Amino acid sequence: MRSFQVINGYNGKGLTIDLTSGQIEEFNLAEDVLTSYLGGRGWGAYFLTEKSDPQIDPLSPESLVVVASSGLNGSGAPTGGRFSLIFKSPLTGTICSSNSGGFWGNTFKRTGFDVLLIKGKAPTPVYLYLSENKVELIECPELWGMSIPELTAHLLTKHSSTARVLGIGPAGEKMVLFASVMNDLGRTCGRGGGGAVFGSKNLKAIVVEGKKTFSPAQREKYQTGLYQANKLLRSLPVTAKAFSLLGTSGLLKLVYQHDMLAHRNFQDTYHAPENIAKISGERLQQTIFQKARGCYNCRIRCTRLTRVGNLRGEGPEFETISMMGANLEIYDLPTIAQANYLCNDFGLDTISLGNTLGAAMELFEKGFLSPKDTEGRNLSFGSQNLLVPLTKQTAFRQGIGDLLAEGAHRLTLKFKAPELAMVVKGLELPAYDPRSTLMQALGYATSTRGGCHLKGGYMISLGFFGGSREVDRFLIETVADHVVDEQDSGCVADMLGICRFAYFAFSENELSRIYSGFTGVDLSPDDLKKAAKRVIQKEREFNLLAGIDPSQDTLPARFFEEKIPIAGQKRNIDREAQFNHMLAKYYEIRGWKK
Ligand code: SF4
Repeated sequence: MRSFQVINGYNGKGLTIDLTSGQIEEFNLAEDVLTSYLGGRGWGAYFLTEKSDPQIDPLSPESLVVVASSGLNGSGAPTGGRFSLIFKSPLTGTICSSNSGGFWGNTFKRTGFDVLLIKGKAPTPVYLYLSENKVELIECPELWGMSIPELTAHLLTKHSSTARVLGIGPAGEKMVLFASVMNDLGRTCGRGGGGAVFGSKNLKAIVVEGKKTFSPAQREKYQTGLYQANKLLRSLPVTAKAFSLLGTSGLLKLVYQHDMLAHRNFQDTYHAPENIAKISGERLQQTIFQKARGCYNCRIRCTRLTRVGNLRGEGPEFETISMMGANLEIYDLPTIAQANYLCNDFGLDTISLGNTLGAAMELFEKGFLSPKDTEGRNLSFGSQNLLVPLTKQTAFRQGIGDLLAEGAHRLTLKFKAPELAMVVKGLELPAYDPRSTLMQALGYATSTRGGCHLKGGYMISLGFFGGSREVDRFLIETVADHVVDEQDSGCVADMLGICRFAYFAFSENELSRIYSGFTGVDLSPDDLKKAAKRVIQKEREFNLLAGIDPSQDTLPARFFEEKIPIAGQKRNIDREAQFNHMLAKYYEIRGWKK
């Protein structure tokens, strides 16, 4: 018989919400679900495989969205405020776990609930209000169509300034396949189209107000872990200084210098140095920067508040500058920042949008798209004046925006040039060219949500500034081991709610002390890694049942066939053979079959 004993640091309770009937039911979380899957991404993998059909249409009412707090939300763990949304992605058909920082996740856990399982479709738009005393679905047709700032202002006025708002903008309502779900205004569950799933359910927002507090079960162990983690954060230059000073945009020069920065839809990685200087973190700091800000309990504070004329907002982050700027040959920070503000306001994933625009520009330059498809406009690379209008058109599915809203894979298929989609399993690649590090190549190919640097293993931390963990990014024999290890570590962070940037500095060694001290359940670093393997295995099984077969564990042919000069790497290597060798080793380690 399953045990339902509440474990310290958790609430032990969840809610099942049927939006079709409006019925809300409370349930208890079994002890083994708490400690075997830990929280966040882990609970998503568990509930999606247990309670959802992998073959379901992700935009149908029957699809399930899991909203999960994380194992260390409510604790003092550095950066430990992240939460996860887990759903079947309408963009890729894979399971998709997407997490976000800010303050929403921590406040959610403090309402007294750990997890929400949301199904059905509300007859009219609704939002969910959740506090320690009240759970309510509230009809809100008047909020449909609102941008994220309008929605947030309205709901904070209606409830309280201490409430936290998670919601979708017009892009989610229009079911743009890479629509994001935003929280705390500028924070985002960006990847995989969670916003479209919310939109398909007529779910506009989730408002939380919670004040419950948690105390550690074993104070001494807990505090030792916190002390060690904070010490490491203070000692690694990237977490102690670089990200605080320049935000993630400080990565731009570094990635460029390592021949990794995508250019012209990944045709190469060459950018003129003077162009990089125009969009660098230093330039951002000198021109549009206003203020730094951090998520819950974060001393790194990488968030940049910026201003362009009368417009203000968060970002742009490294990925946005790279994919909506450098990748498109647009080297103008104010333009990129304005498009980024719109993505935040309307709820769009900037990586997928930038990548899809890159595919559209290559389609145009190669004659697959003609001016009649683009409303008479020249969509060549470098079309700076089109970035803001195309962002708006995509969010509202207007004109060519309706095609862009389908993502790079479907766009290129429509114009019979799927080889121009820089995607893995349908998910648009982020800014790191996989030819420039073998680890990133294998990580993209094997990530359970498709082409992603985070779920695939954040390899730049090992390749560039891993401190004592730094490794040779071209050493083929060790690649698979490093990728598995990084993917597992990343999954631990995703289950416990820790920011990947903090993970540059500390690891499971510190987290096992913090988690064990907080909950009173002794889990060693190895136990945490085992939990991660369990979760990744479940995600893999979901994908296989969804019809995502192992042949999709690969890269776009461009990365095998089109050779570009990469410093430190031989040019005449058989990239495909090299990749297959690494993949076979990876399968062997995971115990997966071809
Ligand atoms: S490092 Fe940046 S993204 Fe991570 S928790 Fe801190 S402010 Fe948020």
